[in-house]
Amino acid sequence: MTVAYKHEPFTDFTVEVDKLAFEAGLKKVESYLGQEYPLIIGGERITTDDKIISINPANKAEVIGRVSKANRDLAEKAMQVADATFQTWRKSKPEMRADILFRAAAIVRRRKHEFSAILVKEAGKPWKEADADTAEAIDFMEYYGRQMLKLKDGMPVESRAIEYNRFSYIPLGVGVIISPWNFPFAIMAGMTTAAVVSGNTVLLKPASTTPVIAAKFIEVLEEAGLPAGVVNYIPGSGAEVGDYLVDHPRTRFISFTGSKEVGIRINERAAKVNPGQIWLKRVIAEMGGKDTIVVDREADLELAAQSIVASAFGFSGQKCSACSRAVIVGDVYDQVLARAVELTKSLPVGSPEEQGTYTGPVIDQSAFNKIMEYVEIGKQEGRLMAGGEGDDAKGYFIQPTIFADVAEDARLMQEEIFGPVVAFCKARNFDHAIDIANNTEYGLTGAVITNNRAHIEKAREDFHVGNLYFNRGCTGAIVGYQPFGGFNMSGTDSKAGGPDYLLLHMQAKTTSETL
Ligand code: GLU
Repeated sequence: MTVAYKHEPFTDFTVEVDKLAFEAGLKKVESYLGQEYPLIIGGERITTDDKIISINPANKAEVIGRVSKANRDLAEKAMQVADATFQTWRKSKPEMRADILFRAAAIVRRRKHEFSAILVKEAGKPWKEADADTAEAIDFMEYYGRQMLKLKDGMPVESRAIEYNRFSYIPLGVGVIISPWNFPFAIMAGMTTAAVVSGNTVLLKPASTTPVIAAKFIEVLEEAGLPAGVVNYIPGSGAEVGDYLVDHPRTRFISFTGSKEVGIRINERAAKVNPGQIWLKRVIAEMGGKDTIVVDREADLELAAQSIVASAFGFSGQKCSACSRAVIVGDVYDQVLARAVELTKSLPVGSPEEQGTYTGPVIDQSAFNKIMEYVEIGKQEGRLMAGGEGDDAKGYFIQPTIFADVAEDARLMQEEIFGPVVAFCKARNFDHAIDIANNTEYGLTGAVITNNRAHIEKAREDFHVGNLYFNRGCTGAIVGYQPFGGFNMSGTDSKAGGPDYLLLHMQAKTTSETL
């Protein structure tokens, strides 16, 4: 009997031995920096001349790995392998598939700080954020393994004296997994293992800025006993490999996490039925957010300021759950703003390799440029209260930035920035604050800081987001506790880490035997 699921605890780095263990993880990763990583198709290692060079966003000169890059021919080869492997994998026992996830989780847990250290180096995550990303990867495997055990016998349906009926879940086929760089371990591993444990085979195309953590994860899956060909590792360009596989007639589903623009493109392309295709493709998409923390008049204002700052600037705001709008009822606006500015100015900005760093770099040059453009827009649309400076000499550093008095329809209040920039907006009253919060095409996360019970109930009904939090920040959903995913342009309304997530990777089959 499997023990009950509980989330992986976060590491307390004030404990000396844990701090030392993390430093040892960083040392370990330093010992293999710059290595070559081949593609993995059907267990075969394939090296190409064309490479993705993964670099440290905090120190551009440091190469994390040189990763072989797939082209269309190799993507086709991977598809054929995944398609053939599906014929055996679909019949594998769900218990065995779950066991592979449990073993993989155990392997990652034993090497936890090494994996987190890769995230520090490759994604620029400060220690605490990297630790949470690794913990979440473990959680996804522990949780989805258990979910599969619950679903393996299907659901009860009625039978009669003359017939025996069954309702079972069977897998879909080959899934294309296109994973993001912002949770390059957790979300990549979660999307991949959800598909695999449900009996599908996978073509994994990780984000081009963070392919090394994905390569390391494939090694873990192999060590845990995953047969060759079930997960095929094919990093490559979206325009070349991504489009090719999304369009492919043998692709049965696409699981994507990333920007709204790419999500819409995938959804459109996937809707087209191509020659030889005998199904409608399923798309699971988790896209952007324009997430709001609402602060009420009757509220713990210190908690409000702390929640806004942590949700806006954790991992430099590069979470689709990040708080990019603070909507505050007029009477307490000045007080919350002043305290948030004070807290922001004291945040340690710097190298994510230093234990105390709160805000590290953003992911790459194009992210840096885009965010700095929004900082300029912010100077027109609001009052700059903190930050506003960037420095891309060594790495891509942008100071945590606050703009005050931004109008509810301003670009800063409407467009996803995906960086350490938060706009403050004043509301006339609580109802107005909820209206402002809902005035966006997205609907991912939100938080309300209030001590007013009626307002909690109003927000529960009217604040239209997939993840709504009361009296806390709006990031940091935990697998199995706060299933994660949003409404409207935030995606396909799916909930990663939730009880119905695996069903998105399966179809129900009814069998009826006449007795
Ligand atoms: N699940 C994460 C959170 O709750 C965000 C995931 C994302 O940014 O894609 O903060």
